[in-house]
Amino acid sequence: MSTKDFIIEQLKTEISGFKAEISEKSVGRVLKISDGIALVSGLSEAMMSEILIFKTAHGDVSGVALNLEENLVGAIILGEFTHIKEGDEVLATKRILEVPVGEALVGRVVDPLGEPVDGKGKIEASKFYPVEKIAPGVITRASVNQPVQTGIKSIDAMIPIGRGQRELIIGDRQLGKTAIAIDTIINQKGQNMKCVYVAIGQKESKIAGIVAKLEEAGAMEYTTIVLAGASSPASLLYIAPYAGCAMAEYFLDKGEDVLIVYDDLSKHAVSYREISLLLRRPPGREAYPGDVFYLHSRLLERACKLNSDFGGGSITALPIIETQAGDLSAYIPTNVISITDGQIFLEPELFYKGNRPAVNAGLSVSRVGSSAQIKAMKKVAGKMRLEAAQYRELAGFAQFGSDLDEDTRKKLERGKRLYEILKQDQYQPLAVAKQVLIYWSLLGGHLDDIAVEDIRTFEAGLYKYADTNDEVLKLITEKKELSEEIEEKMKTLLNDYKLVYGQN
Ligand code: ATP
Ligand code: MG
Repeated sequence: MSTKDFIIEQLKTEISGFKAEISEKSVGRVLKISDGIALVSGLSEAMMSEILIFKTAHGDVSGVALNLEENLVGAIILGEFTHIKEGDEVLATKRILEVPVGEALVGRVVDPLGEPVDGKGKIEASKFYPVEKIAPGVITRASVNQPVQTGIKSIDAMIPIGRGQRELIIGDRQLGKTAIAIDTIINQKGQNMKCVYVAIGQKESKIAGIVAKLEEAGAMEYTTIVLAGASSPASLLYIAPYAGCAMAEYFLDKGEDVLIVYDDLSKHAVSYREISLLLRRPPGREAYPGDVFYLHSRLLERACKLNSDFGGGSITALPIIETQAGDLSAYIPTNVISITDGQIFLEPELFYKGNRPAVNAGLSVSRVGSSAQIKAMKKVAGKMRLEAAQYRELAGFAQFGSDLDEDTRKKLERGKRLYEILKQDQYQPLAVAKQVLIYWSLLGGHLDDIAVEDIRTFEAGLYKYADTNDEVLKLITEKKELSEEIEEKMKTLLNDYKLVYGQN
């Protein structure tokens, strides 16, 4: 065979073995990149929230499609965007953004993509959940019927929260909003509750302090922290609450109860405004884009109480909003107030007078939680609310110094003691049985003979005494209601304690 024939034969076998395979790959190009936002051409089939891979000279960087226009896709970059250059290749992945979920995340501090940031090593997650998910429908839901015990006296009695509820914590800066959320997490010990704390735009050092406190209290055993710190790019701040919610949904699907804190959604809205303006979406009120309501409604709608056919789990959400000079009627506060099932309103005047936690019981509400209160608490709580309201009203009048009749004077004295009782230090959540005991004592007039300035010492001593003679507390915890027998026992306990107290 001549060389020529040989080559022809070779070519023939090659050609006969050739199979045409068509493979489809969506490839686009970066048109423009700035401030963590990229405009990409050529990805006509990209989906909302789809992961895009940017091929840069320094390796792959991922992003998420956010704006789907006719010829362009606007994407937020999740990694180092300074490496991306105009003209770089972009691959579509046909995958929606997902985060790792599961037991492996409990006790860990992670970034919004589920990567550990606590230096405790890799997280071996078995499952991934999409960051965006449609909230459970009405058919799958049940009404709220089990309490979340925050351990904060003023809240558990007057603004009770139920599992599956969305309760907003709102107030100006530095009034103890985070403190309420953290105390609530600490109080979930032994209550069959997983917790997720999503920190959005806060200083990393502050979060380190919070983690240390939670660890000290043994609360990290059931808590995951999702951290998008103040130095993180807006894209990560934007994703953080949805990622945290996905992590909570894993436990929901297993029929468990989860408490999730979003601290705070004001900063979240600001990060979204930044992204939207960079994407050149039209600015609306306060320069927020038109869909800023949807931003938070689709997040908070994912909090729910499922009925037993669907596992019976729940996600309770405590979003936090920071107001400016107490202005509840600003854009983001009104939006979130209208989405949630009530709000805990914190007031500077109370805070600086020393009434901490500075909860304004008059402006705070819980629309569904009272149906979840235990009976014992319900019995005392209604009267508490009334006493507190009457005191606020009377105290206003009493300022004028006019002569007060006996009845009014008594009410004022009782009210002063009530406000003393509502004071509570940070990191000291109180068991519900003890709360019932102290309220019952106050309402029954058993504290009337204790001087106002001594109330807190008396109270602290009472709890200690009750701990050593814990029959009553056990009974309340067990029976969850106030029978005559229990009331008798409380009376005996109080009288015995008063004898001891009087001797000191
Ligand atoms: P920011 O607006 O900065 O997020 P915040 O509203 O979350 O603030 P915190 O950081 O929780 O407020 O608390 C502000 C300060 O008040 C802290 O120094 C905290 O220790 C103190 N504080 C909060 N709650 C109480 C309390 N119950 N008793 C005493 N001090 C408290
Ligand atoms: Mg805070």
